[in-house]
Amino acid sequence: MNTVTLKPSKEKSLLRRHPWVYANAIDRVDGKPGVGATVLVRAHDGRFLARAAWSPHSQIRARAWSFDETEPIDHAFFKRRVQRALAHRQAMVRDTGAVRLVFGEADGLPGLIVDYYVADDETARGQLVCQFMAAGVEAWKDAIVAALTGVTGCPNIYERSDVSIRDKEGLEPITGVLAGDAPPDTLIASENGVRYHVDVRNGHKTGFYVDQRDNRALVQQYAGERDVLNCFCYTGGFSLAALKGGAKRVVSIDSSGEALALAQQNVVANGFDAARATWLDADAFKTLRRLADDGERFDLIVLDPPKFAPSREHVDRAARAYKDINLSGFRLLRPGGLLFTYSCSGAIDADLFQKIVAGAAADARVDARILKRLGAGVDHPLLTAFPEGEYLKGLLLQIA
Ligand code: SAH
Repeated sequence: MNTVTLKPSKEKSLLRRHPWVYANAIDRVDGKPGVGATVLVRAHDGRFLARAAWSPHSQIRARAWSFDETEPIDHAFFKRRVQRALAHRQAMVRDTGAVRLVFGEADGLPGLIVDYYVADDETARGQLVCQFMAAGVEAWKDAIVAALTGVTGCPNIYERSDVSIRDKEGLEPITGVLAGDAPPDTLIASENGVRYHVDVRNGHKTGFYVDQRDNRALVQQYAGERDVLNCFCYTGGFSLAALKGGAKRVVSIDSSGEALALAQQNVVANGFDAARATWLDADAFKTLRRLADDGERFDLIVLDPPKFAPSREHVDRAARAYKDINLSGFRLLRPGGLLFTYSCSGAIDADLFQKIVAGAAADARVDARILKRLGAGVDHPLLTAFPEGEYLKGLLLQIA
């Protein structure tokens, strides 16, 4: 067996069950592991630490599959991991048409994301959408596909591994059908009583922001009789939730015409009065400023922008961008109004995000109160050993 031996004292993080081995922690490699091959990881004194997937092109040189010395990495291993992931979701997430079935490291499958658009009476067709983002899961793709179809009973799997992070693993971007039939142009996922059209082939990520389910439910809960602004609306996730919740009117902004077209289709699919919804195909930064200058005001605002900080080097610039939109958000709120504000930048932690939002409130000269801290749903668990897994954080604020 190919064996990776760590430098003295570099075993500590693995002993705490953190799943990554950085290149600079490695003392020597015995054997010639191929890309994605399984390696034994040992401490400097020879103690077993983990079985891991070898990523020769990445600074994260190995990712642990298992800390159990007796557990081989084979087809049965992947089946067990997928079974466990599905059992957790079935126990914890009910009545939804879109669920994150596998969330990488937190499900013991580092580098793998799987979203499951579950068949219901109306769609009659389930769809799994996967992203393979590390050499290990790429090497075991066939086993993972077999495990996913076998365990879920859903025959249709589509791959959306068109993600730049694959560069770091020396892998090309790739998309396509992995099993079953090609996905339809749009499939329908129902959530909180709202039907969403999802384009799994051309949409962002796997087609839908499954992580915002609980937050859409909150917006639905508070939107009644309110004027709502949804900025960075994509296909209208929060906009539809607000309409369902009885919003008086919903203004939505996005710079993607295709996303807005699908959002409008979603209004029709739900039988909502299109006159209650306004869609602005525009740059959010400029439009927020213009609306504020024009004296427009709202009772509930959602700011859910794309990842402004893809990595640490971008944090300063991203912080200015977050502050800019949140400042506009506060200026646009009526007294007593609610702001749902998010960051999905892993490089900006919850503390820093709160400081940025506090700075924006100060500049807007409002007293802002945090009512709730927000995050992704329970199908996006966070391993205590792996705080890097946290990316989505949000605040629900109310101004005086
Ligand atoms: N809130 C959405 C997800 C947002 S994804 C949901 O819950 O489904 C981020 C969105 O921001 C994308 O749709 C993208 O088109 C849009 N976007 C990115 N930069 C923008 C800009 N400068 N102005 C307006 N929209 C922008």
